[in-house]
Amino acid sequence: MKRTFVFTLPIALMLMVSCVTTKKEPADLVLKNANIYTENEKQPKAEAIAVKDGKIIFVGKSKDVENYIGEETKVTDLQGKTVLPSFIDSHTHPGMVAITSGNNELSKYQLPSTSKADTYAYLQKIAEENPGLPFLMVGTWSNPLWGVKGPDRKEIDKIFPDTIVILLDSSGHSYWLNTAAFKAFGIDENTPDLKEGLSFFVKDEKGRKTGWVKEFALMPYLSAMPQPEPEMLMQGVADYLNFLANKGVSTVLDAGNFNNEQTIVKAVNMLEKEGKLPVRYEATHHLYMPNQLKDAVQTVLDLRKEYGGELLTFNTIKIHFDGVNEINTAALLEDFANEKGNKGGMLYSEKELKNLLLEMAEHKINLHLHSVGDRSVRTALNAYEQAQKAYGKKLPVELTLSHLEVVNPDDMKRFKELGVHANFTPHWVGGTVFKGSDVALGKERYAHNQPVNSLIKAGADVGFSSDVVSTPQQYRANPFLGIEMGATRQDPELGKDTPVFGQKSDRASVKDMVKGYTISNAKQMSMADETGSIEVGKSADFIVLPSDIFEIDVYEIHKIEPLSVYFKGKLRDLKK
Ligand SMILES: [Zn+2]
Repeated sequence: MKRTFVFTLPIALMLMVSCVTTKKEPADLVLKNANIYTENEKQPKAEAIAVKDGKIIFVGKSKDVENYIGEETKVTDLQGKTVLPSFIDSHTHPGMVAITSGNNELSKYQLPSTSKADTYAYLQKIAEENPGLPFLMVGTWSNPLWGVKGPDRKEIDKIFPDTIVILLDSSGHSYWLNTAAFKAFGIDENTPDLKEGLSFFVKDEKGRKTGWVKEFALMPYLSAMPQPEPEMLMQGVADYLNFLANKGVSTVLDAGNFNNEQTIVKAVNMLEKEGKLPVRYEATHHLYMPNQLKDAVQTVLDLRKEYGGELLTFNTIKIHFDGVNEINTAALLEDFANEKGNKGGMLYSEKELKNLLLEMAEHKINLHLHSVGDRSVRTALNAYEQAQKAYGKKLPVELTLSHLEVVNPDDMKRFKELGVHANFTPHWVGGTVFKGSDVALGKERYAHNQPVNSLIKAGADVGFSSDVVSTPQQYRANPFLGIEMGATRQDPELGKDTPVFGQKSDRASVKDMVKGYTISNAKQMSMADETGSIEVGKSADFIVLPSDIFEIDVYEIHKIEPLSVYFKGKLRDLKK
């Protein structure tokens, strides 16, 4: 007892003295008199931040930050303006944006979504304007117009007997080919499907392939086509990332580029080498075919070795685990409402996923799953549970289930129990996307579509993302639009009197939306030690806003433009 007393008194005295008088090492940057929301639970609000060498060295009161101000320190008095941690976009596709923006054919021609007749007339117009065209790849035909049976290659053959035609659909998950394309790719009646119920060639009653190709069945053939050069895509990738950075995004997760993975990785690597990468870039190795499983972990390690840098990192495998509701390929527990006997499909079994998770645990690699249907959600949770049992303790693999359009209520609490992350794309919850998923799911399941707040209430760690894949959609990757739409479940384009999408109770609070775009996303990506909140020791990634996002009218949030953006302590030039 005596010894304890002897030691504690001097320590207490030392602490008192240091708090009162010691001048700290001067900071490079000080922001003071601000309204700071830190997203650090232990210190939710603050007035001042000090930054040294790109890291936060102080968060607290304006009067206490004075100790960090030296002769060289840049001091900014924010006069009450709001500061937030920078956002993280935890599922987006800079590579796909770059690829589609470089395709002139795609941007010039846009198939109408009004009727079948209009679609055929438009294809006729393309044929007339481009006589002798060898190859045509355009989008997007509206698959609800053709129903469950889908379109037929005979229809395109009438307009394009010789041109190789690939038409992308409105779900982004299937293609409509003509017979010339079949011939060019060597696809015939004996060509096997990639995965039953998920990636396959649709057949008519007589067993003939109709030309409708679902999910990734075409990928092995598309991979054989000439790829764009990485140099051609650098500007497209940079443009999209600069757009995100100007909206306050510090970090992205690239959720996959299919057969263009190497090309995109090289483009991003070159951007980093040239000092033109404006954000942290977590690249993923993308699995969408069954045979990719065996080399998956090794491929991540190889990519990391070859292209990894300070900002470009490789720590995640992305799996397109099931399909989508619009074309009846999502894995559901019950049949699709418009197709009895069909419950969709999954790329891997529960056991395959469990074994992959255990292999990934050895290297602490994270797993990001495209998981739309309730059967795919349950299978992934089961696999994680089994892997964790086999591992004997918390698996060092952050598992994120993305999209989550249909979640069985029994599985909601399992996210928290197992420590599995949920990820939603909030600009989807406004009712303007996924045409056809209403008839595919039926009333009941559709009404509970994308249960954001239900999962938050069940204790899940919920993050948010943009999942944008093309330049015309780029504006929808704005996190402020995402925050507003998650909170309202209404699309500002339709006005505030438009019906709320899905369940009104699934509107999340603005507080939970901001948390999801910051610290929750950082946890999902194993980056919470580095970013995601305003906290001593973390990277100085924060944004200054003209208004208090938690106080203003929720319908005004999408209009917010950051006044300034700091990344690693450096003030960003918003004109880029
Ligand atoms: Zn995606």
